[in-house]
Amino acid sequence: MTTWTLECSACVPVRTRDAEGFPGVCDVCGAPYLVRYETLPPPEAKSLLKRQRWTMWRYGSWLPLAEGEHPVTLGEGGTPLLAATRLGARHGFQQLWVKDESTNPTGSFKARGLAAAITRAVGAGANQFVVPTAGNAGIALAAYATRAGAQARVYAPTTTPAPILKQIRAFGADLQLVDGHIGDCGIAARLFSSGTGAVDVSTLREPYRIEGKKTLGLELAEQFGWTLPDAIVYPTGGGTGLIGMWKAFQELRDNGWIRGGLPRMYTVQATGCAPVVQAFESGAERATGWTDPQTVAAGLRVPSPLGDRLMLRALRDSNGGAVAVSDEALVAAANALQTVEGIDASPEGGAALAGAIALQEKGLVSGDERVVLFNTGAGWLYRA
Ligand SMILES: *Cc1c(COP(=O)(O)O)cnc(C)c1O
Repeated sequence: MTTWTLECSACVPVRTRDAEGFPGVCDVCGAPYLVRYETLPPPEAKSLLKRQRWTMWRYGSWLPLAEGEHPVTLGEGGTPLLAATRLGARHGFQQLWVKDESTNPTGSFKARGLAAAITRAVGAGANQFVVPTAGNAGIALAAYATRAGAQARVYAPTTTPAPILKQIRAFGADLQLVDGHIGDCGIAARLFSSGTGAVDVSTLREPYRIEGKKTLGLELAEQFGWTLPDAIVYPTGGGTGLIGMWKAFQELRDNGWIRGGLPRMYTVQATGCAPVVQAFESGAERATGWTDPQTVAAGLRVPSPLGDRLMLRALRDSNGGAVAVSDEALVAAANALQTVEGIDASPEGGAALAGAIALQEKGLVSGDERVVLFNTGAGWLYRA
């Protein structure tokens, strides 16, 4: 039986609470909760994985799932780790890899987080959900709420790419367009939630999307034979993937599952919205809200991420860093992933490649290191 408690990520001394119901943020300070498990599997349990299907639920004993409980699933996770040999050679990387999350149900890695959160919330009796989104979280909520027989309302900016909006509607969600960015959508979502009791599954306003994203890290470790790469280059918006992976790596290490060290974690943002890069460079513990966020990489258009402190901690504790790339560079890089490697990169996935190139130019990542980029979503969703 997997049992867990919730630990505030900011309160000193550390405060924990039980996981009854579906808690949001820390009731004392408003910071995100992190899930802490009573026990995690010992390394001897590796052999048991052989019998598990390739979805993220093969790691069920690392997830908030009670014994015998069935997850709300569309087969998310189990995505390919692809060697990008040709692009690597072009840019002086001997070991460049792409974790291709575009093959998830709903077209992005948002499927992992929402599958975990909806599973927990439905387990706690919820049947109505709301999310503010830059796009892909809205598609994922729409699909997973439907999968659970529940209702979804989605607030998205009017500037969201049209194919994404069509997918949100196609899965039956009640889509509300907002003239603003994801922060403005968040205000509308919280109003709706307090008026109707709909469960708000905004990034880091509940503890379980991180746990779903954690499977990115577990999967990567297994695909590399229980070792980890030297550097991870991650296109960062709200930061759940970065925070989740860093949590996965620590849990794997603490439980004796991996050989060698942990990777350096690098955030890539767009120059038109780079609050985490700015905070990293200035040595700050928290990010300052970015005014007038602008980028075609919709998933990176997050001006005031709630997980800023946790992201900055992961970047610094891992000896990693942060870099911003222009829209021009990230679009060109997405195009290169498509035309040189046949990988349908989203603009965010392009940002990861452009970021890796920039990090190498700065001397922060070297050509002989094992470098993993994340293509977080499918490129077709952005093509008008
Ligand atoms: C949401 C999203 C991101 C940002 O992910 P976070 O984990 O919230 O930082 C990046 N790329 C795509 C395609 C997204 O949908």
